[in-house]
Amino acid sequence: QRKRAGWNLDNSYASLPPIFYTIIEPNPVRSPKLAILNESLVAELGLDANLMKSEQSLQILAGNKAPKGSEPLAQAYAGHQFGNFTMLGDGRALLYGEQITPNGVRLDIQLKGSGRTPYSRGGDGRAGLGPMLREYIISEAMHGLGIPTTRSLSVVTTGEAIVRETKQPGAVMARIASSHIRVGTFQFAANMGEYEDLQALADYTINRHYPELKDKENKYLLLLEEVVKRQATLISQWQLVGFIHGVMNTDNMSISGETIDYGPCAFMDTYDMKTVFSSIDTQGRYAYGNQPGIGGWNLARLAESLLPLLHEEQEEAIRQAQEVLSAYPEYFQANYLNGMRVKLGLFNKKEEDLSLIHELLELIEKYNADYTNTFRALTMEKLEENELFKSDKFAQWQTKWSERLEKQQESKHESIELMKQHNPTIIPRNHRVEEALDAAVEKGDYHVMEKLLAALKNPYDYSADNLEYTELPPKTSGGYQTYCGT
Ligand code: AMP
Ligand code: MG
Ligand code: MG
Repeated sequence: QRKRAGWNLDNSYASLPPIFYTIIEPNPVRSPKLAILNESLVAELGLDANLMKSEQSLQILAGNKAPKGSEPLAQAYAGHQFGNFTMLGDGRALLYGEQITPNGVRLDIQLKGSGRTPYSRGGDGRAGLGPMLREYIISEAMHGLGIPTTRSLSVVTTGEAIVRETKQPGAVMARIASSHIRVGTFQFAANMGEYEDLQALADYTINRHYPELKDKENKYLLLLEEVVKRQATLISQWQLVGFIHGVMNTDNMSISGETIDYGPCAFMDTYDMKTVFSSIDTQGRYAYGNQPGIGGWNLARLAESLLPLLHEEQEEAIRQAQEVLSAYPEYFQANYLNGMRVKLGLFNKKEEDLSLIHELLELIEKYNADYTNTFRALTMEKLEENELFKSDKFAQWQTKWSERLEKQQESKHESIELMKQHNPTIIPRNHRVEEALDAAVEKGDYHVMEKLLAALKNPYDYSADNLEYTELPPKTSGGYQTYCGT
């Protein structure tokens, strides 16, 4: 029987040993106002859109009053931040619980910017409207692109100012995730907990995300292997669309394999392995070209945390963990190459594909061409007048590509259709995101953002009448910079 639309919360996280969380009270804000609500997500969650716009729901989305069935808590975790190990935790977030959707899916309902917790350290527990809307836009864009990600349910303004470099309006975001279990949660367990705590976390994670492993003898090693595979897939998807996360600290890496914690992230325009947008990443640790390697590094931190569960003898545990970790570069490479093949309309695999792909990427980089629009142009067979397409080198590459396409049974038309499914025509371009945020934050005008969000829902729609979003920003002198959203 179908339940009425509404909150249907469970609190399984609170069944973990107490070191993993702290029960907290709401920290009310003065005058909450709904800034944006994700109506399609409301429906997926089994909530009611009209009800969600009510005063009662506003109090819930602002963190002023917990919904029925919620036991609000802040999660404990640790993490390597830019390589340095630190104790962390939800310093400005709370978990309401897990909504069980009409399809029986369990999803975390988390508020971000909801006030201080025992893990806040020096922070105010609050978040700015700009950064919360930014996370809303980029995470919904990732969802539209078909990349695993947390989602954004709502953003509410608080009526209170927060102080950063300047004063800005405060906001609370409601975030939806398969879970908020991070690599850093395991690091926390390994460093702060007993063996039983670590085991409880691993069993909980297996039950929640990898239930098929539950009865396997070496389930903890298999858990590591599954996370390795999911992260290899995820990061290859980032690389294929030119997404730069910006803060791949181990506390920002999800065990479920979703993209999580959108801070100074951005999409690359001109193709360059060294691309960094984050103003705090001065060393380029989290540059575009470093993401796959950092993924491996983070997974090694997960493996270290799991060692006690793998084998009684540490040497044997390390041997097993290393064997699993050593497959990561291959998983990544295989996913990435397959993704590049379909971007080029290739239905089958050939040895020569690697060089075909690399030669194209080198040319894109050499001519400072736009990554997304180059693949878009190839897909549309509309090679506009630019330096890349005019070059002899490109003409040579194109001949090679044509010859390669002829080595498969499928027609050129079928290749083009395949390419359309894998080369986004619309991405959240930095200047468009800034434009939407400016209108919303400075003028309270959400139309620009709504229009952008609508376009980002169908990034592979080549027939859509929104070509304006494929345009590059006007040429400026300085590079685009994102700030660690707080
Ligand atoms: P992030 O950079 O958003 O991944 O956050 C890193 C850590 O800092 C997490 O433990 C956050 O909860 C905490 N944090 C970030 N901003 C604040 C804030 N304004 N107040 C308290 N804690 C914060
Ligand atoms: Mg974080
Ligand atoms: Mg360059």
